[in-house]
Amino acid sequence: MPELPEVETIKNELLPYLIGHPVTGVILFWEGIVRQPSAEEFRSRLIGQRITEVARRGKYLILGLTSGEVLIVHLKMSGSLLLKPTSSEPNKFIRAILHLDGGTELYFRDPRKLGRMWLVEDKNSIVGKLGPEPLEADFSPEVLAQRLSKRTAPIKALLCDQSLVAGIGNMYADEALFSARIHPLRSGKSLSQQEVECLHSTIQQVLWSAINDKGASVDTYLRPGGELGTAQFQFKVAHRGGQPCPVCGTLLQRIPVRNRGSYFCPHCQPLK
Ligand SMILES: [Zn+2]
Repeated sequence: MPELPEVETIKNELLPYLIGHPVTGVILFWEGIVRQPSAEEFRSRLIGQRITEVARRGKYLILGLTSGEVLIVHLKMSGSLLLKPTSSEPNKFIRAILHLDGGTELYFRDPRKLGRMWLVEDKNSIVGKLGPEPLEADFSPEVLAQRLSKRTAPIKALLCDQSLVAGIGNMYADEALFSARIHPLRSGKSLSQQEVECLHSTIQQVLWSAINDKGASVDTYLRPGGELGTAQFQFKVAHRGGQPCPVCGTLLQRIPVRNRGSYFCPHCQPLK
């Protein structure tokens, strides 16, 4: 699933193509991709509006429009936003196309049909309950400590909880926990102050590193131009079950934590 670094990359790379351009057409091959309002109203309200802002909140892409409304996109498990269809499969899996003036076309490709779009007046009706942005100044070690302090759930599940901190999913939670040497099943409240400070730092490191590498193409993720991200080549544990730990050589394990496969090193990340 695209996480913060992937959506940040999509935002950065789409911005010059979208900002200032009016929407001239909307084609929906699968109307279920629009959650709000109706597909018909979505089309009629969107056409003619200029895109004034391209932003990200957590894993959501947010396009500001001249009317003050916002078009919000969530790619879920398998969505991509592409400036051209990938050549090997011209129309397969394309669920929607936005036409902009000047000839730009934005394709919403989504093999699993889990992606969503909303056109709303108040973005907080969709993203208002998200936790802090992990790369913003207000996400301090103290804020993380306070948010974990009474939580008995496994730290891996807490990091993936979008209301605790926004934008982190399976891959970057595993990477941040490995670098902080914290077992994914430790409870939130069991972490020492030193461990929380370390985890805060490793969360920011893994996210910045992945943004630098334009996201991780381990599954279906593609950058808007159709290129792959390269962050997966820096992964130390994520998607590397059965391979040796890059620090100690112990075979990495994969265990379910609240139904999410979690990769870790049993030697470097002991369950205290
Ligand atoms: Zn190890």
